[in-house]
Amino acid sequence: MTSPLFPRVTIIGLGLIGSSLARCFRVDASLAGHVTAGDRSQAVCDRVLELGIASAATTDLGASVEGADLVIMAVPIGAYADVAAAIGAHLKDGAIVTDVGSVKQAVVRDVAPHLPDGVHFVPGHPIAGTEHSGPDAGFAELFRGRWCILTPPPGTNGAAVERVAELWRRVGSTLEIMEPGHHDRVLAITSHLPHLIAYTIVGTATDLEEHLQSEVIRFSASGFRDFTRIAASDPVMWRDIFLNNREAVLEIIQRFTEDLTALQRAIRWGEGETLEALFTRTRTIRRSIIDAKQA
Ligand code: NAP
Repeated sequence: MTSPLFPRVTIIGLGLIGSSLARCFRVDASLAGHVTAGDRSQAVCDRVLELGIASAATTDLGASVEGADLVIMAVPIGAYADVAAAIGAHLKDGAIVTDVGSVKQAVVRDVAPHLPDGVHFVPGHPIAGTEHSGPDAGFAELFRGRWCILTPPPGTNGAAVERVAELWRRVGSTLEIMEPGHHDRVLAITSHLPHLIAYTIVGTATDLEEHLQSEVIRFSASGFRDFTRIAASDPVMWRDIFLNNREAVLEIIQRFTEDLTALQRAIRWGEGETLEALFTRTRTIRRSIIDAKQA
């Protein structure tokens, strides 16, 4: 039998994304020889062992990475600096550290200073997820047919990047390499702003008078329902995304607000042509997403 891509892997944070990766390792033994789970929560560690998706699980993050060839950080963005500080001194020479965080400049800022020389850091972000959290929410097919973006800082060891890329390819993803700042701007419009809009709409609805609120629930299939799914996403994860992608998100909110004001004006002045022209243009975007199999 050929040796696995990574003999020893540690996943830190066994929520939706971490536990989905753990399930991928269980399904395909050619990816990892031994999988250790590190999580601050004893309940999560116990559950991971019950589910049989790691060989060992511990709340001692430093101990969890000892001897690991690959460490995958999968905690909320706000916890990265603490986790990196806890594991830095325990990493073996030549180990690869990667992550799955939704913002990349902040991850590089918070993690890189804690990693010793001789450890390779390959930040990553799978563009895959659901509104569910925790170790029971994961599933091995999550990354299939999805993009994974790697944002290695300049000078990163090419062989380390390739091994991380190979892992994502084998779990079914298509790879893209990006500069971290570019990643953060792209995600601000494709992911962060849509979540902010969903949180706002659902928040506005919950502020309505009581009788209107019940109508909102009853007639939610008319559009509102799709926003409630997005607005049910993990509050801690999304708090950290907005706090750590501040500049890019603020810039995109500014542009969005200007466009919204233009639409408001078109409605006020009965400018049907303006509305129809925009709605026709946006329809073609939906078609291209379906054609790209990202629907
Ligand atoms: P999740 O389901 O909430 O799981 C996070 C796990 O990390 C939980 O078990 C949590 O434990 C643990 N944790 C939190 N702080 C920790 C710390 N300081 N030390 C050790 N463990 C800690 O989160 P997720 O959805 O998998 O997201 C994880 C990462 O993936 C985030 O950075 C997110 O930006 C990124 N991501 C998420 C999605 C998505 O759709 N969900 C998609 C792509 C990327 P507790 O339960 O005790 O807090």
